[in-house]
Amino acid sequence: MDSSVIWRGMTRDGSARVLVINSKAIVQTAYENQHTTPTATAALGRLLTATSMIGSMMGEESNRVTIGINGDGEAGKLIAVGDYYGNVKGCITNPRVDPPLRTDGKLNVGRAVGNGTLYVIRDTGEAEPHVGTVSLRSGEIAEDIAAYFAESEQVPTICSLGVLANRDGSCLAAGGVLIQLLPFADEQTVEALEKNAAKLTNISRAFADGKTVSDIAAMALEGIEYDPFDELSVAFVCDCSRERMHDAMAKVGQKELSEMFDEQVAEGKERTLTAQCRFCTKSYTFSPEEFGLQS
Ligand SMILES: [Zn+2]
Repeated sequence: MDSSVIWRGMTRDGSARVLVINSKAIVQTAYENQHTTPTATAALGRLLTATSMIGSMMGEESNRVTIGINGDGEAGKLIAVGDYYGNVKGCITNPRVDPPLRTDGKLNVGRAVGNGTLYVIRDTGEAEPHVGTVSLRSGEIAEDIAAYFAESEQVPTICSLGVLANRDGSCLAAGGVLIQLLPFADEQTVEALEKNAAKLTNISRAFADGKTVSDIAAMALEGIEYDPFDELSVAFVCDCSRERMHDAMAKVGQKELSEMFDEQVAEGKERTLTAQCRFCTKSYTFSPEEFGLQS
């Protein structure tokens, strides 16, 4: 499996944590699973790109972060789940969303997503996960993620995300930069970071042109002393299983399940139920006996 990579580092004066991801492999897997249009590839791809970086910043191996977008646009809902290792999965309600291009010729992610909210659920294994919600700024996702951190977690954040999609919806290039200021950040460093970020507007093009994550980090940190920490290999990983799917279906209730099996027979099909994972589209077929029902 092709993997994506996250570069992680910090300014030497301790002002900011910096992450850079080349997420092409992640976004391409999402496209292959869900057959997304170029606009859906860009929308879901940006969310996956951000979620991978945010996941990799969590403190404990068992931590999970879920980032969802509930907009009123034709894309429907978007959701991505990231783990401590930076691996992610995600899906979009309407992978066929295909609005006209913006007047500047770019994919209109903001229109596909529409107005609504972005929420973040941090599951740290405590009884109550931390949930934060912000209203969408533009639906273009990078700005919405930055707004979430500023408002809900009080962490000033610079976020840049980019996905270039081919006409068939496959991923040509994708990547992102996430910079989080730490308490007592040096003003001059912050100014330099903001100035550099303004030049990082076309990050996916930079990756398409062959730039590496450390090249992009050098651009984001131009004129600032910094220390690279590591590079993580990350991927689109689905953790679904037959057991999990079974448990999710069992929650529907025996009576309803029994009726669903009956419907299959009434339609002239076999007495089985097939459920598809919405993230990786793997199908699982169950017999009535597996739910304690008569065949
Ligand atoms: Zn799956």
